[in-house]
Amino acid sequence: METAPKHREKKPRVSMPEQEPDQRAGNFQEVPLGYTAEMAVEEASRCLQCKKEPCVSGCPVGVDIPGFVRCIRSGEFGPAIQKIWATNSLPAVCGRVCPQEIQCEGRCVLGKKGEPLAIGHLERFAADFARDACISCDAAPVRSTGKKVAVVGSGPAGLTVAGDLIAKGHQVTVFEALHKTGGVLAYGIPEFRLPKDIVAHEVAQLERMGVRFECNMVIGVTLTLDELFEEGYDAVFLGVGAGLPRFMDIPGETLIGVMSANEYLSRANLMKAYRFPEYDTPIPRGRNVAVIGGGNVATDAARSALRLGADRVSIVYRRSRQEMPARAEEIRHAEEEGVELHLLTNPVRFLGDDDGRLVGMECLKMTLGEPDSSGRRRPVPEEGSEFVIECDLVVVAVGSGANPLLTRSTGDLKLNRWGYIEADPETGKTNLEGVWAGGDIVTGSATVILAMGAGRKAADSIQKYLTEKG
Ligand code: FAD
Ligand code: SF4
Ligand code: SF4
Repeated sequence: METAPKHREKKPRVSMPEQEPDQRAGNFQEVPLGYTAEMAVEEASRCLQCKKEPCVSGCPVGVDIPGFVRCIRSGEFGPAIQKIWATNSLPAVCGRVCPQEIQCEGRCVLGKKGEPLAIGHLERFAADFARDACISCDAAPVRSTGKKVAVVGSGPAGLTVAGDLIAKGHQVTVFEALHKTGGVLAYGIPEFRLPKDIVAHEVAQLERMGVRFECNMVIGVTLTLDELFEEGYDAVFLGVGAGLPRFMDIPGETLIGVMSANEYLSRANLMKAYRFPEYDTPIPRGRNVAVIGGGNVATDAARSALRLGADRVSIVYRRSRQEMPARAEEIRHAEEEGVELHLLTNPVRFLGDDDGRLVGMECLKMTLGEPDSSGRRRPVPEEGSEFVIECDLVVVAVGSGANPLLTRSTGDLKLNRWGYIEADPETGKTNLEGVWAGGDIVTGSATVILAMGAGRKAADSIQKYLTEKG
């Protein structure tokens, strides 16, 4: 007999087992270990199967949450993943890295009186089950349309467009500048949060569906946008991301020991510096590390520094904990592992020794003033509050800008004043005929699921364009 909804509301959320903090701070293996089948069924049984499906409206790609949860509840794990795949080609990734607390789970009615359903954990369970059981997408094969689509960039935006359009029967080729596919999923988010074989598996699934991947192809340099059309592509999607590191523009930034999070994480992840000596990639191993910023990039860099052997790691953020944009779980994990938070603190100058090596960072204490254009309260410096944080490595994680490699060589593509591509928010259409754009290169650094949502809208618009073109 089904549990009455009232009881379900009172049942606590099934927590996911994790590696213990002192153990995991010394390795790069994944921290949350996943649900067992029993745990997944128990958690799924808390779902109220709400008719209005508020959770679905919180998911930018509209995953049928009540539908797949219902399948898990009755032990039908294969059908559960097929339901998810109908709208989401990267569930193992999304289940792990979506900021669920502000997306699907943020709208779950169970959250009003208690804890929301663990939608992300359940999505991860279904995707991992499918991988272990070698289940693939059972979408019916479609007849080839003979149309060719080029996707530039293999991050979540590009992968979503590729998945959606291959399913419509178009010939899809993804061009990637790096030697590995996946975008930030491959070179940014660390192994302990998103194992790289999971990203590779999701990409392989697209390959099996017929998507072609060409790596080491910098569009705008190796081939221009015009040349893609000359090669017979009918439509092009630009999903080149926002991977250009930003610095703070304060004195001492050129000292040895100050580096961007982008470079630090790429060396650790993509070039596997943490697997020394198997991979002989140089990476500075600071003993006393300060990471500047409050987002996922900052928590990832700080937790990587711990795992690379630092004695002391701190995150220095100019607002309060409440304003930190990182996922709640990442902040919790970082603190449990021993990362210190220096909140309401803003670096003003890096200090070096006679050899040009970093020895510390002068900071000011901040208070919060009125909200700024982002809606968050503006940090205001406290006069005379200077103090020094000693450190031998600073990782700067204060955001990134538009990737200019393609846009620089495509003069007639309309950009906004920050260098991001102007695209219709509903369709992803740019000012150029046959060219769409989406993800971080349009919005600035955002999230995996928002990039995927933009890819979904662009794919729908490309499909309409190709159908009308005949
Ligand atoms: P990207 O993922 O940046 O992919 C763009 C791809 O285009 C790259 O592979 C790049 O090499 C390629 N490219 C660029 N120029 C060219 C060119 N000229 N020719 C060919 N290829 C090109 N989001 C979350 O939701 N949750 C998280 O936990 C999270 N953590 C993050 C941690 C880190 C360290 C970082 C950096 C970001 C994180 N994000 C997170 C943000 C998220 O990863 C991005 O918003 C998302 O990846 C953007 O997707 P995209 O497809 O637009 O671009
Ligand atoms: Fe939630 Fe992300 Fe899954 Fe959508 S894709 S249901 S936002 S975890
Ligand atoms: Fe289930 Fe929550 Fe969605 Fe209701 S809102 S259907 S309880 S996941």
